[in-house]
Amino acid sequence: EVDVPADHPRYQSLLTRHRIEAGVEKGITSTQGLIAEGRGEAFDYLLGEETTPSADRAARAAAAHFLLAAHPVISVNGNVAALVPEEVVELAEATGADIEVNLFGRTEERVRAIAEHLREHGAEEVKGLTADARIPGLSHERAKVDADGIYDADVVLVPLEDGDRAEALGEMGKTEIVIDLNPLSRSARVAAVPIVDNILRALPNVTRHARDLAGASDAELAEIVEAFDPAAALDDAERRLREGAVAEDE
Ligand code: ATP
Ligand code: MG
Repeated sequence: EVDVPADHPRYQSLLTRHRIEAGVEKGITSTQGLIAEGRGEAFDYLLGEETTPSADRAARAAAAHFLLAAHPVISVNGNVAALVPEEVVELAEATGADIEVNLFGRTEERVRAIAEHLREHGAEEVKGLTADARIPGLSHERAKVDADGIYDADVVLVPLEDGDRAEALGEMGKTEIVIDLNPLSRSARVAAVPIVDNILRALPNVTRHARDLAGASDAELAEIVEAFDPAAALDDAERRLREGAVAEDE
């Protein structure tokens, strides 16, 4: 897709930047998204640019939540659409989740462009265009969701979500799964399952666990959910940030 030499030591990071840039050019990623990307990159660098054992446990707990859910929804913003459109579709297929476009800086045009982009990558139904319900406690534009999508969901995956909205969704009683490289971010701190990992690795990892757990009983899934400790996951990530990869004693 772009001319990045595969043997470049920062190949993945360069590829990621190019995808975000292309997203901006295509009208699916906002310029704010560029800033979010830069912040994510810095954390990924400090975390060692790999999925930690702790983040892997979080991904498994997330998969168990998805499989137990009555109505799981994957929320997609401009960065998610630019970085992992196919992976979103695969996770939706593996778990029966809905896909809904949900933007911090919502414009009809961008919602439409993202929905189209996801369909180009295999999505069948993409929600978020109806916007006939509101998340209580948020200002008008940021509150918009679909009544038969996020509004109705019991489990919501909100990757790279802003802290305010993550908090408001939690107050609606939804089980929130957050993918965010910053363990200090409010979004990560309000999540039932914070996955502190790059979305490029985290999303396919949740899908892998969901496929692996496809035959598990509800009791087995509930056990995985129960055993997961969000505060411990955040502590693990924070320790790793401070002390580096060697400190994680697992
Ligand atoms: P708040 O504390 O309100 O949550 P924030 O600083 O998290 O604020 P944003 O900059 O909007 O607000 O959030 C973007 C978040 O997404 C950052 O925490 C960043 O680390 C994270 N992020 C960016 N790119 C990725 C990525 N590829 N994978 C995972 N997380 C990412
Ligand atoms: Mg955040």
